[in-house]
Amino acid sequence: MVATILVGMLCAHLLCFSAMFLLISQRLQGNKMGMHYFATGNLLLGLAYVLQLAEGGPAWSAMSVVNHTLALASPIAYWLGAMRFFGQEVPLWRPVVVFSLAYAGAQVLVQWSMGAVARYAMLAAMSSTMFFVMAWTVVYGVRTFARDLRWEMFFFALLITGIGVLNAIKFVRLATGGLDMLRMDHTFQMVFYIYMSSLATLLPPAIIWLVLRRLTDELRGMAARDPLTGLLNRRGLAQALEAHFNTRDAAPAYLLLLDVDHFKRINDSHGHQAGDAVLCQVAEVLRRAVRRGDLTGRVGGEEFAAVCLDTDRAGAMQVAERLRAGMESRSMEIPGARAPLRCTATIGISAPFTGTASLDDAMRQADAALYRGKDAGRNRIEASARQAGVPAPDGGP
Ligand code: GH3
Ligand code: MG
Ligand code: MG
Repeated sequence: MVATILVGMLCAHLLCFSAMFLLISQRLQGNKMGMHYFATGNLLLGLAYVLQLAEGGPAWSAMSVVNHTLALASPIAYWLGAMRFFGQEVPLWRPVVVFSLAYAGAQVLVQWSMGAVARYAMLAAMSSTMFFVMAWTVVYGVRTFARDLRWEMFFFALLITGIGVLNAIKFVRLATGGLDMLRMDHTFQMVFYIYMSSLATLLPPAIIWLVLRRLTDELRGMAARDPLTGLLNRRGLAQALEAHFNTRDAAPAYLLLLDVDHFKRINDSHGHQAGDAVLCQVAEVLRRAVRRGDLTGRVGGEEFAAVCLDTDRAGAMQVAERLRAGMESRSMEIPGARAPLRCTATIGISAPFTGTASLDDAMRQADAALYRGKDAGRNRIEASARQAGVPAPDGGP
């Protein structure tokens, strides 16, 4: 009776969370993070336990073959789901269907050639192997794709290893003691059902939390970046600078503001799309010109910024010159155009600054320097007249 209630609750949990995973996966457009795979895994396992309830104990029937097949197809769906969560493009239905057909055939063969104990032992051995593989996949995923989720994932791997261990014990006891231990009210089976019920309650909310965490991280990342070039936007620059200045002994930074010369002409003569292609290539020039650890961003239509960290005025000037020369020498490829385009940029450099609050000030200084450069003929670098702590002679930036 207790076993029946336990398995009944297990079915209810698995099927309810299957529906919830499915609903969530339908809301997630693009990267579903494996939620539809987890929904399938829960559905298959839930149905396997429904069949087990209907059967009551070990039996040789078509229902039992389907039950074992579903019970083993579910960890495959979970495993593929874990791979999807870690960003691997793996299919779901083909491997699950191919495996299910092969396993149903194997069951018939084993039952006829070696008997019922061997068929149940095969299920325990295969389940154990599958859950160990899944635990290993989670650990591998943490080491390669999801370092930020290290502790949560190790905890997951530990819980999954528990199912593998229980199935391994089941295999040994089946091989040595026969089918008696598979009675639903056998102590081992009760322990097994309690463990599975606990996991079926614990794991789904944990998976939903992980997906939420990923989503919010992604949204935060998107809010900090310019979608066209992938560079930081103003907000992203401010956040990255705050992180820099929060580190102890952070040296002053220099802001370089780059404005593409006569960019409007490119748009006017080649179209907006060509203009966008040029902007992406300017972003590339910018990425190449800065040093490791410097920040790069797009702060306006055709205005870009580089923040040179841990350097002095001469270092900032060097980056600016690399940037100016990089723009001048770059052949800008334009889709549909016969010849590449050439364009130049003017760069303004701020005085050194030491806090995020000074970023706006640095922007104004670099902007003023930039427009002096424009007035002086473009394709040049102008540094802010103001030095650290020394006001500009005319009271301006
Ligand atoms: P100057 O040398 O003085 O900087 O001249 P300019 O033509 O580069 O400057 P202006 O500010 O007059 O023109 C900037 C143009 O950039 C105007 C606007 O249409 C274009 N622009 C702004 N954002 C985008 C964008 O995202 N894509 C494209 N293709 N064009 C953009
Ligand atoms: Mg401009
Ligand atoms: Mg311009």
